[in-house]
Amino acid sequence: NLFLSRKSFVRKVLFNDAKEAKAIEVMQNGKILIIKARQEIIISAGAINSPQLLMQSGIGPKEHLTEMSIPVISESPNVGKNLQDHATVPLIITEDKSKVTFLQDVQTFTKINEMPAPCLIGFAAVNKTQIIPDYQILYYRFPVGTIIPVWICNFVYGLADSICISIAKAAQSKGVILALVVLLYPKSTGKVILKSKNPGEPPLIYTGYYSQDVDLEKHAKYIEDFLTLLDTKHMRKTHAQPLNLNVRQCKHHKFNTRKYWKCLALNVVTTLWHSVGTCAMGPEGVGVIDYKLRVHGVKKLRVIDASSMPKIVGGNTNAPTIMIADKGADIIKTDHGFIGHPNN
Ligand SMILES: Cc1cc2nc3c(=O)[nH]c(=O)nc-3n(C[C@H](O)[C@H](O)[C@H](O)COP(=O)(O)OP(=O)(O)OC[C@H]3O[C@@H](n4cnc5c(N)ncnc54)[C@H](O)[C@@H]3O)c2cc1C
Repeated sequence: NLFLSRKSFVRKVLFNDAKEAKAIEVMQNGKILIIKARQEIIISAGAINSPQLLMQSGIGPKEHLTEMSIPVISESPNVGKNLQDHATVPLIITEDKSKVTFLQDVQTFTKINEMPAPCLIGFAAVNKTQIIPDYQILYYRFPVGTIIPVWICNFVYGLADSICISIAKAAQSKGVILALVVLLYPKSTGKVILKSKNPGEPPLIYTGYYSQDVDLEKHAKYIEDFLTLLDTKHMRKTHAQPLNLNVRQCKHHKFNTRKYWKCLALNVVTTLWHSVGTCAMGPEGVGVIDYKLRVHGVKKLRVIDASSMPKIVGGNTNAPTIMIADKGADIIKTDHGFIGHPNN
């Protein structure tokens, strides 16, 4: 009873006069199709595209929809707001020698699912008696002569050439550790808004990283806390040192000070691809969906994905999203009388 339509782009949800979601408009092989729903429609397009789809369908902040010339089906001021992510600061640490081999370095690409070079992923708190972590670390070690961190700097993070060249120069004679310091509980939020009324046009994403000063202050503190690791017996043996990335905007700050780390964070902060929260669960007027993941203000429409989270989790977002989907499936089965049915 499942039909998957591949290479199909959903442009909008269509409603009847009673504001019941009745069909979707889909682009497939250059043709626009209308697919009707017998029961209800579930949007699971992710934290960037679910709010886009709602807004293209006429559900969202009234002023914004009017500005985009999209007829308003239901005014829902917080669609696309409350975008949260785990702001991530990449650091480079150099070592006099590295135990990573060239073969492992090459295998970072050829056996990416096995992670052949040693990597470390963990959670830490500044107060070592605290049970809940403040930050997450992802830490990858590369040998002398590696080009992988330079490639990541350039092609993955799109950082300035001068920064990537600093890494390349260091890697000529040193082992390189790429450490990602991840802020787990940000107070800052961003937003997703439409660029135009064309459903095929990607929306605009405002990450909002550090829009609350406290996040920047904390992130710098977490970087300092992480770097105390370099003062351990093991790391001292390899003369592990943080690398000055020659960030133009931070040249007037003394390297390895709180002010420097704040400046670095502001200038190199990037995503961990953990966007959530843009169709958040909450009461009408605050949230976009209710406790059964139903979109406020219309009928027969749910959003079930990472956008449903009101608050970002303090860890990776994939498993929690699967949990939301699992719970959502149970809610739908219950609502349609399948749970408790003698055949189930
Ligand atoms: C590069 C990267 C690395 C990540 N690494 C990790 C990790 O290591 N661990 C972890 O826990 N999490 C990781 N995440 C985050 C994790 O993938 C997400 O939290 C999770 O996939 C969110 O699930 P979702 O269902 O909300 O959205 P998605 O998984 O993004 O699913 C949404 C789907 O909807 C489709 N879609 C969107 N718009 C439309 C439309 N208009 N019509 C038709 N289809 C549409 C998309 O193509 C996509 O297939 C990573 C994410 C990225 C991008």
